[in-house]
Amino acid sequence: MIEEHVAAEVEALRRVTDLVERVAGDTRTTRVLRVHAGDLANELGRVRTWRSLENLREAAGKLRAEALSYTQGVLLREHRLDDGAGPAVDALVTHLCAAADVAPDVVIGVNTGSESYTRTLDLVRLPPHCDVWHLPVVAHELGHYVIRELRHAQDKDARPLRELVETIGDDDHAEELVADSYATFTIGPAYPLSCLWLRIDPGTAARAGVTHPSWQRRVHVMVSLLTLMSAEYDTGQYSGAVETMLLPAWKQLTGQDATTPGEGDNPARTILTQLNRHLGHSRYVVGSNVTLAARALKDRTPMPQGVTPAHVLNAAWQARLRGDLDPDFNRRALEAMR
Ligand SMILES: [Zn+2]
Repeated sequence: MIEEHVAAEVEALRRVTDLVERVAGDTRTTRVLRVHAGDLANELGRVRTWRSLENLREAAGKLRAEALSYTQGVLLREHRLDDGAGPAVDALVTHLCAAADVAPDVVIGVNTGSESYTRTLDLVRLPPHCDVWHLPVVAHELGHYVIRELRHAQDKDARPLRELVETIGDDDHAEELVADSYATFTIGPAYPLSCLWLRIDPGTAARAGVTHPSWQRRVHVMVSLLTLMSAEYDTGQYSGAVETMLLPAWKQLTGQDATTPGEGDNPARTILTQLNRHLGHSRYVVGSNVTLAARALKDRTPMPQGVTPAHVLNAAWQARLRGDLDPDFNRRALEAMR
């Protein structure tokens, strides 16, 4: 009887692979999916016990979920039901991957819950309501990808950010802190602002989970990183954002005047040293570009030369905090990122 179950699993994999191909065509993701589905089908063919079937079923289920999430993302975009977020996400991913010198081989899928990154298809899942103020989280999810992909300039086999994760804890929490720091380093205050205003529940901010450190610790690391960056690059532009936007938001949320380390060490210094060393071109440099981007968004004029998607994200957050929005703002900002 186990053969019937195995055949059903193999058929389910075939059907979902076909579906993805019909929707997305012959993309890199479709080909990667076909390889993974083929490997799983081969393993399923060798199954003789219910126990081993159970494990493979779980893996097959995860792969099908990734495939369907990808399909949803393609369909939403194709029918322009994403309100223009898709091309803006692409522009941000292209910008960040070019600066890090890694291939921009991530795809965007849809998730009803929180956003995530999964390695099999290099899939970043975003909620379908992703507007310009949610978009900074893409930089965090991309951070998980860059941690795996970034190679050492001299030694192509070395993975400096993976080594960094191992240095500071070698667990999920360490990786989350590096992904948070990558997002803060590359797109600046827009990322912690998006966390503070749209994600963090003050009632659970001090609670560490299995896969994630507490928000208390995460925010502390992000704030520390920006403060250290100001000292290192002799500019008040990072610490200024901490004083005028991040700490006031933290105070409003938790009642606390300052952030505190929470349950663990603060690895901001160690992380910044490695980000500077291996991702120097990725650093978010403010200059006058956020002001220029804000003015262009308000005046409905084209973005000036030199303004990156990261500058637009920060201009959007500043406009929101000033209460300087209009109903069309999100659409214009997403368009400006392309
Ligand atoms: Zn993460």
